[in-house]
Amino acid sequence: MRIAIGSLQQESNTFCPVNTVKADFDQAYGWDMLEKLNISDILEEVGAEVVPTLYAHALPGGAVVKEDFLELVEGIVSALPVDDLDGIWLYLHGAMYVSEIGSGETYLLKCIRDKVGYDIPIALAMDFHANNTEEIFDLANVICGFRTAPHIDKVETERKALRCLIECIEKKLLPKPQAARAYVMVPGDAMQTALPPLKQIMATADEMEKQPGLLCAQVFGGQSWVDTPFTGPSMVVTHKSDTRKAKEMAETLARHFYDVRHDFKFLIEAVEPDEAIRLAMAAEERIVFISDSGDNTTAGATGDNAFMLNRLIEHGAKNVLLAGIADKKACDKCYAANIGDELTLTIGGSLDKTSEKANIKARLAHRSDVLGYTGDWVGRAAVLDMGGITVILTERRTAFTGEEIFKSVNINILDYRIVVVKLGYLFPDLARIADRAILAFSPGSSPERPEDMGLKRIHRPMFPFDDDFID
Ligand SMILES: [Zn+2]
Repeated sequence: MRIAIGSLQQESNTFCPVNTVKADFDQAYGWDMLEKLNISDILEEVGAEVVPTLYAHALPGGAVVKEDFLELVEGIVSALPVDDLDGIWLYLHGAMYVSEIGSGETYLLKCIRDKVGYDIPIALAMDFHANNTEEIFDLANVICGFRTAPHIDKVETERKALRCLIECIEKKLLPKPQAARAYVMVPGDAMQTALPPLKQIMATADEMEKQPGLLCAQVFGGQSWVDTPFTGPSMVVTHKSDTRKAKEMAETLARHFYDVRHDFKFLIEAVEPDEAIRLAMAAEERIVFISDSGDNTTAGATGDNAFMLNRLIEHGAKNVLLAGIADKKACDKCYAANIGDELTLTIGGSLDKTSEKANIKARLAHRSDVLGYTGDWVGRAAVLDMGGITVILTERRTAFTGEEIFKSVNINILDYRIVVVKLGYLFPDLARIADRAILAFSPGSSPERPEDMGLKRIHRPMFPFDDDFID
């Protein structure tokens, strides 16, 4: 059998003023892309002839620029043969928003169908935070997604979608995924699959999946920093042949999600920024993490806001690490100086004009390239010691999600009492180190509370803006 594979991923934040361009994507063409994926052994096992297209992944950020997006789409579509193909496997995000186009995934799938038609199956592996359009349910034949948030089953999801695709090819199936929506907007950090109420909904989906004929019963939580009419949770069930049964199951999951809407709570302490700093300074725990959640780069924010740094200075906080602030100009100044030099710098506000700047005096302690959160090097960084507060500057937006990233700039987290990160919930690697984690409702383009986002285009009714709209 002949299977084409492709992967295009970026999680958009339409409130982020910095658009995403092609250069922001880590790209691999041809056979190199197989190195980035986790499906080679399965393809080999079934003796598939593989048609590689394009792998392109970017850090979450602002909407993707149309022209750049179209080039990436062309990278996938042009590699597809017009005929003589048995199926297509795609690993997408699901919340990619493209300027002047809208849903990137939907547009890509339309272009693919225009070329290959509707007689071969397309299986998708997607992120739990996908905002699915109605069209995507008609364009794909199997829709699988991560079952965990934080995501620890990316590999399993890639493989599951491929196995479903192979079954469709072998049995000549063209399933039609059925969907139902829950008009419930839940802050990303209140949706963790290991904890109630999402844990129970996932358990229901797991049970459904065991039923004969089911390929996938998927709960998508949606991503609320994308202001569109299709933003929000969707339940997608793919049955090999019984669309009525699949629809019923999707509706059951959606009803469950709606019924527990009041039970979604922030799963760590979540307070105003000043309170977060006060709590951390007074804490008895060894290491306290504070999430600067409004400027969360993994949610697409710019990561250039010095707001929390200014608050920390005002509170006189000591033994603090702040990771990091994106500021290319300030980073360049550090590379023009010598290690140990005392520098006077203005940092922050380099990308988003609503971000605060901070005027600081600091000793240049270290500089080197920094690892990105997908394991690639993402440019230069400098470590500044302000005497009590250590700040990591990066020339590009980055996300300090794991210990290795800190180590790449010569930082040992254990040397600090308070660690401020531009994240929402802590990724598992950091959660393990944190004796206590506090989420600060800081300003920026990734505010946690839907009420603070300024959403204008979403479907209404939508909880928490509306309530009791279903009997
Ligand atoms: Zn996600």
